[in-house]
Amino acid sequence: MTRIMEELYQFEQALQRMTDTTMMLENVISELMQENNALRQEQERLLSQSQQGATMEEFKPQKSSQMMMDLYEQGFHICNEAYGKRMQAGDHCLFCEAMLERLTEGM
Ligand SMILES: [Zn+2]
Repeated sequence: MTRIMEELYQFEQALQRMTDTTMMLENVISELMQENNALRQEQERLLSQSQQGATMEEFKPQKSSQMMMDLYEQGFHICNEAYGKRMQAGDHCLFCEAMLERLTEGM
């Protein structure tokens, strides 16, 4: 009887660990899905923006890209979220960085 109680206890412990792991994974998945949604929205916005901008920026697109990069290096947001606003010293913005990545790709 002691042995089966011991095994039952072991089983309960294992079950508890699996439950914990499942909950942790659910949290991770939920966070990833939220992040994925945000990135998708940002991508759509950037895409529609670049399509709108395409006709306007046909004229020397590299020059305006350079201008945006300079602006970011000087500590200003170049993203849609906070365009033209000053950043805290040493701060960085994921939206701006996504924008920069696109700009450097186009060069
Ligand atoms: Zn920004």
